[in-house]
Amino acid sequence: MRPLLFVFLLVALPAHGVDLTGRLEQGGLAIGQARPDSAVSLDGRAVPVASDGRFVLGFGRDAAPTATLRIDGHSQTLSIAKRDWHIQRIDGLPPAKVTPDPAQLARIAEENRLVAQARQVISPHPTFLDGLAAPADGIVSGVFGSQRVLNGEARAPHSGTDVAAPTGAPVRAVAAGTVTLAHADMYFTGQTVMIDHGLGLQSVYAHLSRTDVAVGQRVEQGQVIGAVGASGRATGPHLHWGVSWLDVRLDPETVSAVLPSVRR
Ligand SMILES: [Zn+2]
Repeated sequence: MRPLLFVFLLVALPAHGVDLTGRLEQGGLAIGQARPDSAVSLDGRAVPVASDGRFVLGFGRDAAPTATLRIDGHSQTLSIAKRDWHIQRIDGLPPAKVTPDPAQLARIAEENRLVAQARQVISPHPTFLDGLAAPADGIVSGVFGSQRVLNGEARAPHSGTDVAAPTGAPVRAVAAGTVTLAHADMYFTGQTVMIDHGLGLQSVYAHLSRTDVAVGQRVEQGQVIGAVGASGRATGPHLHWGVSWLDVRLDPETVSAVLPSVRR
């Protein structure tokens, strides 16, 4: 666990490029403004654009030092700051949750397909520009990006923020949106909910003990969508919540810190 230190690095590029606010760093997010109906891409990948020309860029944990933003044929190079990541060791997990057998791997592959399908839902209306609400009251017990060593074995980095809270504590939508996934029992994440917030941004809530929403349901910011639990791969009750842009996992703490400053 580490103290929550939010360093605000607000970026404003020169007028000949597009204005971006947010944080150009690994795990970070930036918001840009183009003309309506602009064609925007990041490293050759199409970026969703709102009807008012606003768009979001996200940078993964292992993002390269530079990225190319292209708007209507005009390119600019973005510098993406590197971050240092923690190492987190967790012991006492059931061995099958660390090294799944072939049948479990097939199940995990199918669940990953469902998550990828849920991420295809991209509303053109951003609902997150006023900032994110806290998804649960509790203590941050795991941060984004940590290299995981589970039962002594190196595993994928942590993709979200863990908030330790008692089983049954309310879990709330961080922003308004539409539920894109409500799964009763995923191998790693247990009861899992995903919500589309527009422009490719989605939030995920994992290890729930109860789910109160269904796919396609519209939710408001702060609405209770379920309860904290320890379903899936967990050593105790906590909420794992994540934020993704398209299929890129972002640091929820960075996104939470940055968003209130991007509204204009
Ligand atoms: Zn987690």
